[in-house]
Amino acid sequence: MSCRLAIVVPCYNEEEMLPITTPALLGKLDELVAEGLIDDDSYVLYVNDGSKDKTWDVIEAHHANDNRIKGLKLAGNVGHQFALTAGLITAKDSSDITISIDADLQDDINVFKDMILKYKEGCDIVYGVRNSRKKDSFFKRTTAQGFYKVMSLMGAKTIYNHADFRLMSKRAVEQFSNYKEINLYLRGIIPLIGYQTDCVYYERLERQKGESKYPLKKMLALAFEGITSFSVKPISLITVLGTIVVILSICAFIYAIISYFFGTVEPGWASLIVSIWFLGGVQLISVGLIGQYIGKIYVEVKHRPRYNIEKLLD
Ligand code: UDP
Ligand code: MG
Repeated sequence: MSCRLAIVVPCYNEEEMLPITTPALLGKLDELVAEGLIDDDSYVLYVNDGSKDKTWDVIEAHHANDNRIKGLKLAGNVGHQFALTAGLITAKDSSDITISIDADLQDDINVFKDMILKYKEGCDIVYGVRNSRKKDSFFKRTTAQGFYKVMSLMGAKTIYNHADFRLMSKRAVEQFSNYKEINLYLRGIIPLIGYQTDCVYYERLERQKGESKYPLKKMLALAFEGITSFSVKPISLITVLGTIVVILSICAFIYAIISYFFGTVEPGWASLIVSIWFLGGVQLISVGLIGQYIGKIYVEVKHRPRYNIEKLLD
């Protein structure tokens, strides 16, 4: 069985990191070829995501030295999720498996082997999962963990502590390419593909060179993207809130009646307070109801594939 591996690496302003990343990845490829796990025409595909520094020049130089280094230059900065998608879709036609990894090699390349072994055992998707976040700052750790919790509360299926470090088979990438949505949150989409999957565990390392390209602003944007593109639950919450307010207004009504009989009220107060609460609640329910329809339109316009056939016996 041929097994050509493409390592897909999105790069944004990584000129300092690539001179370290390239030898590490090529060394890893040599090792895996020597072990007979992958074909010797396996390669690394760098995706230059509109870097402002010399990243592309570095990629060209590395390509000239060794043609197992390939490069894909995007016309502008489209962000990590799209850069990775571009790389995967480009690599799928000339590979049997892809492994996506960040340019800073914070994810452990020594688990490539386990990933490939799991693929050979029949898995189509193998997730790299961090088994601890000791190396992350306290802030990054708590925000990230909070995010996974919120995601699962909102009903989106994600793999806990898994970023975009994963192996995918050719057919998994092919099915993934049928998800045409613009609001792209890979960690939510990939689990929708199905097939046999598994996880490998590793210790996340520190970034060696350069700084994080995911400042708080981008992290929050990704989290918001994740929640809003996988769940219309926030809309239902509006309806729930409206219902609670209406119930409160009924309580206020009862309270106002009791107050009236005991003669401790200002004239007009009861009707005023009850109508404020009641109308507020009715408005929230209405907004929520309209939201439900918008939510459905939102889900429809994604044109997601409705199923993925694995086998047909005939
Ligand atoms: N990246 C990208 N486009 C962007 C931002 C980041 O392709 O707009 C790449 C970056 O070069 C790196 C990966 O995405 O390979 C993850 O970024 P980083 O390591 O800075 O994120 P962190 O590990 O801090 O979450
Ligand atoms: Mg990183």
